[in-house]
Amino acid sequence: MRATYGSPSRPPCARAGEEAAPHVKARLVELFDITVIGGGPTGLFALFYAGMRGAKAKVIDILPELGGQLYALYPEKYIYDMPGYPAVLAQTLVDACVEQAMQWPHAVCLEERVTSIARLEDGYLKITTDRQEHWTKTLILCTGIGAFSPRKLPASSAAAFEGKGLYYYARSFDDFAGKRVVIVGGGDSAVDYALALAPKAADVTIVHRSAFRAHSHTVEQMRNSTIAIRHPDFEVTAVHGNGKVEAVTYANRKTKEQITQECDALLCALGFVSDLGELEQWGIEVEARGVVVDTVTMQTSVEGIYAAGDIIHHAGKLKLIACGTSEAAIAVNQAMAYISPKNKLQPAHSSNLTLPITKKLNLEAE
Ligand SMILES: Cc1cc2nc3c(=O)[nH]c(=O)nc-3n(C[C@H](O)[C@H](O)[C@H](O)COP(=O)(O)OP(=O)(O)OC[C@H]3O[C@@H](n4cnc5c(N)ncnc54)[C@H](O)[C@@H]3O)c2cc1C
Repeated sequence: MRATYGSPSRPPCARAGEEAAPHVKARLVELFDITVIGGGPTGLFALFYAGMRGAKAKVIDILPELGGQLYALYPEKYIYDMPGYPAVLAQTLVDACVEQAMQWPHAVCLEERVTSIARLEDGYLKITTDRQEHWTKTLILCTGIGAFSPRKLPASSAAAFEGKGLYYYARSFDDFAGKRVVIVGGGDSAVDYALALAPKAADVTIVHRSAFRAHSHTVEQMRNSTIAIRHPDFEVTAVHGNGKVEAVTYANRKTKEQITQECDALLCALGFVSDLGELEQWGIEVEARGVVVDTVTMQTSVEGIYAAGDIIHHAGKLKLIACGTSEAAIAVNQAMAYISPKNKLQPAHSSNLTLPITKKLNLEAE
């Protein structure tokens, strides 16, 4: 399977390495030093620096996994411009960023869309999401090209079945146990889902309209399995059922062959779309669909709110991972100095520190 962090069965708001428990609710009213919105590479590096500076930090992302564009748009592409990596798969880079960031027990709130930010009378910030409220002393916007959401199945009858047998993520594979499952899509997620569900489900059919884009090794595995493959040129045209998914019709665009298949679950893995949404309404100065920052401090037009990565806009901005991480380091160190004048702006060199990873990897700190 592609990503291991934030697995489908993991509750949406928990500290790394912990299962969310009833006391999670109590934890949510805690005041954080730094809250990062956006768990892409920029947000993850901000979390690393926040940990290194001893800040109590949290990340919020609408996706079910960390990794931003690398996770959602190009997990299997090689990246060639990371310092120290001549070539690295996007998903491998995400895994490394997660390991680096999560050596501290930062709070991780996934599948939450931030909808508003407000300044409270005591000067702290309240972040409202579609699930709950969060409180923080400072905020770092690492929202990239916007909030990702799954691309919806175009068949007009589909919307009525969301939550009634039509899924856009497989949160728990157990939900599909013993069911007749139809999966739509041909990328890594679709093929990974098919392989993972095949041993649990009653049967699995994958429907796709063009060549499989998934890793050739997993496509081969799928071809040698019990999974029924309807491809190429097959598209879902209708979903049927009385209050829940009971059957799906898919048609071949070329031959016009039409098949209606009984099923209990329809799992669509059609990629993601992103949207910048409410940015303008958050009271932060925006220009050319990007957040305006003071390029010395990465502070936005609002005191205590910083921004880094693809979301920022200025004349010299480069939308590159390396630039985002540098901006994240500046933003976190500025935020620390903002939180308390006792905090130095310049951080200690990491090579002079003993970090949690030092112990984990059994390294000798000088
Ligand atoms: C196909 C492709 C190939 C690329 N190749 C390279 C390359 O080789 N080298 C390179 O340096 N760069 C490359 N890039 C660009 C690189 O991926 C981006 O610069 C980088 O992902 C920016 O990181 P980020 O963390 O700022 O934003 P993102 O990766 O966009 O992450 C932002 C996160 O914020 C979340 N978010 C946004 N709004 C909200 C909200 N309201 N509530 C909750 N969560 C929210 C999103 O869900 C997302 O997870 C490539 C991009 C693409 C599309």
